[in-house]
Amino acid sequence: ISPPPHDAPIGRTKDGGFSPYAGVRFFRQLPISQRTKDGLAPKYVEMSDIQRASLPHSLCGRDILGAAKTGSGKTLAFVIPVIEKLYRARWGPEDGVGSIIISPTKELAGQLFAELKTVGKHHSLSAGLLIGGRKDILVLDEADRILDAGFKTELDAIISQLPKRRQTLLFSATQTKSVKDLARLSLKDPEYISVHAES
Ligand code: ADP
Ligand code: MG
Repeated sequence: ISPPPHDAPIGRTKDGGFSPYAGVRFFRQLPISQRTKDGLAPKYVEMSDIQRASLPHSLCGRDILGAAKTGSGKTLAFVIPVIEKLYRARWGPEDGVGSIIISPTKELAGQLFAELKTVGKHHSLSAGLLIGGRKDILVLDEADRILDAGFKTELDAIISQLPKRRQTLLFSATQTKSVKDLARLSLKDPEYISVHAES
């Protein structure tokens, strides 16, 4: 965290914790990157109560349980720390997924994705929106190696959450017993296709 701007009041948070940013009113007073500040402006200038109360803590890396009514601005209370944490960590494409945000409906997920893109528009982070609700097609590639790597529990958990009526394509280099067990659980009336090169 960079040093506080000298106009920021130094103080204690309501719960007795300490943050040099407790009491600041404007997004531009927060210890966040210029890129994020540029993404917030001009739409977002002054913080809402939940943002003002939580951001000094979340930006320091603390866990937050934030309760505030609908419309109070909770989205930015997590979008800003997510972007800042990844930016400070110099998160890049080779680091993979750096944050998962779970939302109850497609509409809310779409709204928060739009907010994330707005506030993050000057950053080089990439983001994806995953929504479900229609039939998917599941592919299990290198199934034997997935199981060899010890991901059976994780795979079972994922498959148990997927629609029962779906198409599933499973490919594997070897037909081990564990692959056959997985096939029995995840495929429906499959075509068995086995090709062996002569060489
Ligand atoms: P909640 O998740 O608490 O229901 P949202 O994060 O969806 O609330 O925010 C509600 C609305 O308020 C959104 O349209 C958002 O753009 C707007 N908003 C959030 N924070 C601010 C702010 N600091 N200044 C102005 N508008 C804001
Ligand atoms: Mg919300």
